[in-house]
Amino acid sequence: MKIICIGRNYNDHAKEMNSPVPTEPLYFMKPDTAIFREKVYYIPDFTNDLHHEIELVVKISKMGKHIDLKNAGNYYEEIGLGIDFTARDIQQVCKEKGLPWEKAKAFDNSALLANEFFKKSDLNLSNTVFGLRKNDETVQEGNVKDMIFSIDEIICYISKFVTLKPGDLIYTGTPQGVSAVKSGDKLEGYIESTTLFSVEIK
Ligand code: MG
Repeated sequence: MKIICIGRNYNDHAKEMNSPVPTEPLYFMKPDTAIFREKVYYIPDFTNDLHHEIELVVKISKMGKHIDLKNAGNYYEEIGLGIDFTARDIQQVCKEKGLPWEKAKAFDNSALLANEFFKKSDLNLSNTVFGLRKNDETVQEGNVKDMIFSIDEIICYISKFVTLKPGDLIYTGTPQGVSAVKSGDKLEGYIESTTLFSVEIK
């Protein structure tokens, strides 16, 4: 399986990063070794500025290439939640030098994934709230309706370049409120009123 991540898919997050709003989806990939599903997260020693980016995660259910926008909804059945962990200090250097982002984004354990997924049919995908609490305080909250590119548009776009296969995951971008995590923090992610993961940072 592969992990595809969308960058800058919410206006308020693009703004907080001083980044332009994209005119077409911006994506990058993480390897399967990025998946993290445990309860205790150790900050890697190569970064001093590890940021959380809470994101809705789409699980691809069917193989597809050149998927039409009108058919994109047939290619996923489940929606989950994860964190696109980002070594912001390394990413900043990559950006300044025009280098790829892998070192900052695709390291081991950089894709936290909640174990449970929602069935697509159990959510209203035109109005679904999700977010992240840090030490019991909500620090990020977004709504699927505020995505610059919808889930269906993302699937249509990505599949022009990359064949999607069952089990592939698409991290759909983060809303405003990214910040550094530090040892002792507790992170909890939710969709609507359901807490889907709780992780202790060490
Ligand atoms: Mg992200």
